[in-house]
Amino acid sequence: CRTSITQSDIVYETQKQQVTIASLVQEFTILPITLKTIKDRFKSEMAKGLAKQGETLAMVQTHILGRLNGSETGTYLTLDIGGTYLRVVLVELSQGSAVSIRQEKYAINPLVKVGEPKVLFDFMATCIDSFLLANDAVIPKWSQLELGFTFSFPVLQTSINSGTLIEWTKGYTCHGMVGKDPAKFLQQALLSRNLNVNVSALMNDTVGTLLSHAYQHPHTVVGLGLGTGSNAAYIERVDRIGKRDTTVLGDNAEASEQEMAINIEFGAFDNERTVLPMTMFDNKVDRKSLNPSKQLFEKMIAGMYLGEITRNVLLDLIDNRLLFRGQSSHKLDTPWEFLTEYMSVIEEDSTTDLEDVRHMLEDNLGLGQVESLESQLVAVAGTTGPTSGGELLREPATTLSDRQIVKLVVKLIGERSARLTAAVLGGILEHTMGYTWARNEAERQGGVDIGVDGSLYGLYPGYESDLVRGLEELFVLEPEMSFLFAKDGDSGKFMEKIRFGRSLDGSSVG
Ligand code: BGC
Repeated sequence: CRTSITQSDIVYETQKQQVTIASLVQEFTILPITLKTIKDRFKSEMAKGLAKQGETLAMVQTHILGRLNGSETGTYLTLDIGGTYLRVVLVELSQGSAVSIRQEKYAINPLVKVGEPKVLFDFMATCIDSFLLANDAVIPKWSQLELGFTFSFPVLQTSINSGTLIEWTKGYTCHGMVGKDPAKFLQQALLSRNLNVNVSALMNDTVGTLLSHAYQHPHTVVGLGLGTGSNAAYIERVDRIGKRDTTVLGDNAEASEQEMAINIEFGAFDNERTVLPMTMFDNKVDRKSLNPSKQLFEKMIAGMYLGEITRNVLLDLIDNRLLFRGQSSHKLDTPWEFLTEYMSVIEEDSTTDLEDVRHMLEDNLGLGQVESLESQLVAVAGTTGPTSGGELLREPATTLSDRQIVKLVVKLIGERSARLTAAVLGGILEHTMGYTWARNEAERQGGVDIGVDGSLYGLYPGYESDLVRGLEELFVLEPEMSFLFAKDGDSGKFMEKIRFGRSLDGSSVG
């Protein structure tokens, strides 16, 4: 878990350090009033996106009507492509239990993400091919296998198994794909390998998370994806979707209780920069990204970006000679080299001298190291020659103050991410309350389930508790919503009415 640090815990070396840190704390802290402003704005953006195509929040109609109730059965193949990995999973559904019988995970080569679409889709087909070969013994011997394709990018869905890519996110740029149907590309790649696999469903990962969690927890209303990218899907009442396409909704589409899963695509929230408290560091990350001015919200909260924001803050402190005696390192100078995983290690360090932080900074990132004695002498004498063999001089490389500052910066950025997520989740819950859940006293008592998938939520220390605290700040004083936080008399426990459930492999299983 996270071990806490505040600005007053830091042993400052200069007053300028103290003043700068105080202003960083101010910039990165999301006060309750800001949380509420963001939540309200998000709610009104949801309504706009439901009314009309082409708004900032895509509010994609998934064509998935109704909810799962655990009675669905069968064996299916899924291919799940996200920001970092591709997974092929064989899933068996039976009586409310969804078991992934076999799965293989393949790392995605960074070059494939930015190359020709054909290379990307051929890679997907190759993974399926090798999965089928390796698992021949357990693959059902049907003439044709049905495949669910989880494609974790914004797609305007045109049917249950077709849609058009709105834009790439998470560092993908495969040229010429926008406006095209990823399911068709995959089907073609499968055919060209003579694989008898039919792409029978195309869906977003968050929709998968929503559905797989609902399979076991019928009160599930939201599926959250908090990993390399971030997004949510939720259950909406069809009569609230102003832009609904009645031709595809079936006969009783207008029945007021009819429901459909909506993929919000919340990463694009506030691309207009009206309410998000963006700092100059966020702007830097955005400018250097492959999709500048897009997915601004995602860039403040998702795993792909948190390390890069941290790197930019640290470099700024270094350039102002407030950290590491003004010395950076090759690794810290390199964009995207400070990984969000490092933040988890730093957050977890509970040693008095911050030994894990020291290890991370000095040994992993090469900070605080000075040149070899020999090469310094050569530099002084102005001569050149072999410099090998010199001992690496290790001054007390990073100071306690350095390490404390790094720990605080990391905490500010991690906590901000969780609180911003709380603001939009609060908006979703308020928007749906009374429509798809809490429609009567029994449902209010039953509360609401939220399925979550993704490494940020699963692995980042303290993320869930920051998220919960944010929701509590939002709702505890809202008369309509405060019942969610009614304290249990004896245990003093708050959260039994909002239940988060980690939906492992949910994006595939769903
Ligand atoms: C994509 C979403 C996806 C999310 C989480 C975002 O970059 O736009 O479609 O759900 O990442 O994977």
